[in-house]
Amino acid sequence: MSLSGNARKAGVMGWPIGHSRSPALHGWWLALHGIDGVYVPMAVRPEDLAAALRALPILGFAGCNLTIPHKEPALTLVDRLDEIAARVGAVNTIVIGADGSLEGRNTDGYGFIASLRAAQADWSARRGPAMVIGAGGAARAIIAALLDEGVPEIRLVNRTGERAAALAAEFGPLIRPIAWTGRCAALDEAALLVNTTSQGMGGEAALDLELDRLPQWALVTDLVYSPLETPLLAAAQRRGNPVVDGLGMLLHQARPGFAAWFGVVPAVTPELRAAVLATMA
Ligand code: NAP
Repeated sequence: MSLSGNARKAGVMGWPIGHSRSPALHGWWLALHGIDGVYVPMAVRPEDLAAALRALPILGFAGCNLTIPHKEPALTLVDRLDEIAARVGAVNTIVIGADGSLEGRNTDGYGFIASLRAAQADWSARRGPAMVIGAGGAARAIIAALLDEGVPEIRLVNRTGERAAALAAEFGPLIRPIAWTGRCAALDEAALLVNTTSQGMGGEAALDLELDRLPQWALVTDLVYSPLETPLLAAAQRRGNPVVDGLGMLLHQARPGFAAWFGVVPAVTPELRAAVLATMA
């Protein structure tokens, strides 16, 4: 890597940050496009987030990504939010304007939809009801994105039922909260099944869900990408359902930020996927 004095700068803030795949991902695109730019990991303690964000324009950064635990606290620290970040209630991408102001965006929903379309070019949320498991931060981005795509109904199931009910009250009548005990029956005629919980991640138990009632043509996707093939995806594949793993969402959500900071719209390719996967081995 050779940087000039005019190199464009971006990075990712989190606490901790060592687990983040974003430096490998953006670094791969920077090298591919021969861009005079750099993307760095930044370990920022929660109590230092405001100062760190304000330092970015002073240091000449074009922007940054935010990861756990900074996505929600950043809502009140940026100068403005785009419509999606405001609705989702979290910021994962910051773009710094020519005047040094900070705009907070959220590209998780974009990444989710783009990864489904990359797997099935004719995929449409309008095909039928979606079943979303989980009601945390990731679920909020998925719900907003599916509503924007015209989904007719979202069946929302969460271990803690009150959280699903609260999301339904916030996001409107197309969200149908379903009791945890009713989750298997609620798969009837669902066109899409999305796991947004951490169940199935390495070290966690598998998601406790019988798929018998799910139509065989329904698309099944998991936001968990470590392991790439979660027990849920393996079970879905065994019964013949098409599946999409969580790595595609991670790769696609990075595209808008890279384009804004470095001026090139990057592509998600098998080579990029392999390069990022190699860092997870
Ligand atoms: P979060 O806000 O902490 O929410 C966690 C969710 O998991 C909650 O709905 C929680 O239910 C549920 N849960 C936890 N333990 C459970 C259990 N034992 N049984 C049933 N449900 C359980 O986390 P998040 O930010 O939404 O992230 C969720 C997952 O998505 C993580 O694995 C994260 O890595 C992944 N993710 C992936 C991408 C990607 O690009 N692929 C992007 C964002 C997130 P309760 O409300 O009952 O606690």
